[in-house]
Amino acid sequence: MYFDAHNHLQDDALAPHLAALPRDLAALPLGAAVVNGTCEEDWDRVATLAARHPWIIPSYGLHPWDAGNRTEGWFPKLRARLDADPRAAVGEIGIDRWMLGARPDDPRLAGLRRAELPEQGEVMLKQLALACSADRPVTLHCIQAWGTLCEILERVNLPARGFLLHAYAGPAELIPRFAALGAYFSLNPAFLPPAKSNPIGYSFPKAAVLQNFKIIPKDRLLVETDAPAMPPPPAWQTRPLTDHLSHPANIVAATEGLATVLELPLDETRALVAENFHRLFG
Ligand SMILES: [Zn+2]
Repeated sequence: MYFDAHNHLQDDALAPHLAALPRDLAALPLGAAVVNGTCEEDWDRVATLAARHPWIIPSYGLHPWDAGNRTEGWFPKLRARLDADPRAAVGEIGIDRWMLGARPDDPRLAGLRRAELPEQGEVMLKQLALACSADRPVTLHCIQAWGTLCEILERVNLPARGFLLHAYAGPAELIPRFAALGAYFSLNPAFLPPAKSNPIGYSFPKAAVLQNFKIIPKDRLLVETDAPAMPPPPAWQTRPLTDHLSHPANIVAATEGLATVLELPLDETRALVAENFHRLFG
């Protein structure tokens, strides 16, 4: 069985594929997936999907890209989502310095008010505190702010069961500090080398990101797709989608990639991921 620690099945881009997806994923087979809402508008779609498919763990959060557009009542709405479903997690939340320097016309950020880091941090911390009090797992997003994130997390209460750093691409030296706080780290297949035959660790742009997965404690390793975002290189894709979208079945690529990095057989890697997934997400 495969376990996807982070995706966005509720995303509009996957809507045309939603009828076929459950069958495609059952064929892998997929054991479970954490489906992350990112803004108030998509929490309903996450809840609807989770009610339809028992393998979905719903997760609700306000993403740093969406923090600037939050409504006045966002926080009670989030609390109500968690109260309504004891399986629900908190996420995707976090901080993102990249968006502040992105081009004004970047289509991914269209219509969003870009909250500065202190405001992003405030929104993240409110959600973290809620996760602590409700004892729910949390999924954190971070781009170009790993040191800041680590310093913030070292100062606050964190959920006793741990938290996920999704698509971990931070520096090696922060891994022990994050791990001491209870972090799990998920490998995203967008960081895999262009050819499957390339030995991991040689020259391709994201080699260092993959190398870091060798030093993460084994009981903290997870895999994810972030589908429909972050598609793997074409050679790794099991079911290519058009428009540079990632199919959630690319969890196979993520798991194969982790097996390659760890130099473990695929079935042992799957068993390790399954155990870690259940410990964090239940
Ligand atoms: Zn995501």
